[in-house]
Amino acid sequence: MEETVKISKDLERAKLELAILYEISNAMRTTLKLDEILYIILTGVTAHAGLGFNRALLFLVNEKDGLIEGKMAIGPETGSDANRIWNQIEHQKMDLDDLISVYKDSGHVHQSSFNDQIRHIKIPLKEQKGNILTLGVLDGMPLLLTRETIQNYSADPIVNLLHPEEIAVVPLKAKDKVNGIILADNFITKKPISKDDLRMLIMLANQAGLAIENSRLFELTALRSHTDHLTDLWNHGYFQFLLQEEVEKSRVNQRPLSLLAVDIDDFKVYNDSLGHQAGDTILKDLAALLKGYSRKMDYVCRYGGEEFMIILPQTDKNEAFVIAERLRQDVEKYKFMHEEILPNKKLTVSIGLATFDANGSTPSELISYADKALYQAKHKGKNNTCF
Ligand code: GH3
Ligand code: MG
Ligand code: MG
Repeated sequence: MEETVKISKDLERAKLELAILYEISNAMRTTLKLDEILYIILTGVTAHAGLGFNRALLFLVNEKDGLIEGKMAIGPETGSDANRIWNQIEHQKMDLDDLISVYKDSGHVHQSSFNDQIRHIKIPLKEQKGNILTLGVLDGMPLLLTRETIQNYSADPIVNLLHPEEIAVVPLKAKDKVNGIILADNFITKKPISKDDLRMLIMLANQAGLAIENSRLFELTALRSHTDHLTDLWNHGYFQFLLQEEVEKSRVNQRPLSLLAVDIDDFKVYNDSLGHQAGDTILKDLAALLKGYSRKMDYVCRYGGEEFMIILPQTDKNEAFVIAERLRQDVEKYKFMHEEILPNKKLTVSIGLATFDANGSTPSELISYADKALYQAKHKGKNNTCF
């Protein structure tokens, strides 16, 4: 009889667990945006309607730089914080879907110093001494630090930051490769982490690792399809998209916006004398120079063969002219390979400048104005900026 009760209880729990995992993995399939995926994972780990941990943190492996980096953290910072948030969720009867919609609509985790703190953490993967994150990545095995075993990790920066009584450390994997780590604990309720809790977290982590990998591949593909292969600048198609977006932003916020059309002077002479390959090298060098000397907020694009477009958001005509002249002079000063074969013995550019909305209120009007100004700069003897 007792055995029957136990079996039916186990069955009940298995059903519930399955329903939770099903709901979380379904939510993960609704988006390919990495930040949304991370939010869904952490909400799944912490929500009452999910795994119900008090606090969860997510770290991703940055293979290129050999680091493990903090990406997102969800959880109250104090007990009263916890009561307020949990009561609100309870009161509004928010389930997993509701919590996720709030995030998708606002586009960010509510301001929390906990989240900010975690997002600044970067730990070299080479660092291994008593470090739970690098251990998780290298071993690829889940780890439950209990009240007894956690003392062995007293030097760990994360343990020192979180002061957990117990904490679960679960690697995220895709194709047998660890791409991240989830940490979860119950620092407010002090509820012991059970074997079942850990098992659920591991199952969730298996789904999460794949979802993260898919989203990264998607973002990489999108980035590649927007990039010009020779110069690594934004390509023509993406330039059109960006300009449309920026014009719209300027219209709504009533802010200026400027556009620079940049064309190499006498490039045909260079190509005809030294060949197309040498010409391509110049295009790469010039692209790097334009990118390096422009501001972080600017968009440097390859418009066509040897023509570039630079979008300068929130920049009026006077500022844009100063920027254009500085770029033009930087190009003039730079020593390009074999530039002495050019008529002026130097590789130079001409620049045409257009500003929203004095010179046009649509992308095509702005491009056409910048083109005309560029033509004037050529007409005036090249190595010039006109507007
Ligand atoms: P201008 O000073 O009037 O601009 O003279 P230009 O010779 O630069 O003439 P134009 O701007 O029309 O440039 C066209 C030349 O640019 C033709 C070709 O030799 C070169 N060119 C265009 N696209 C590429 C490219 O992808 N690679 C190389 N190597 N050369 C290119
Ligand atoms: Mg040209
Ligand atoms: Mg040219």
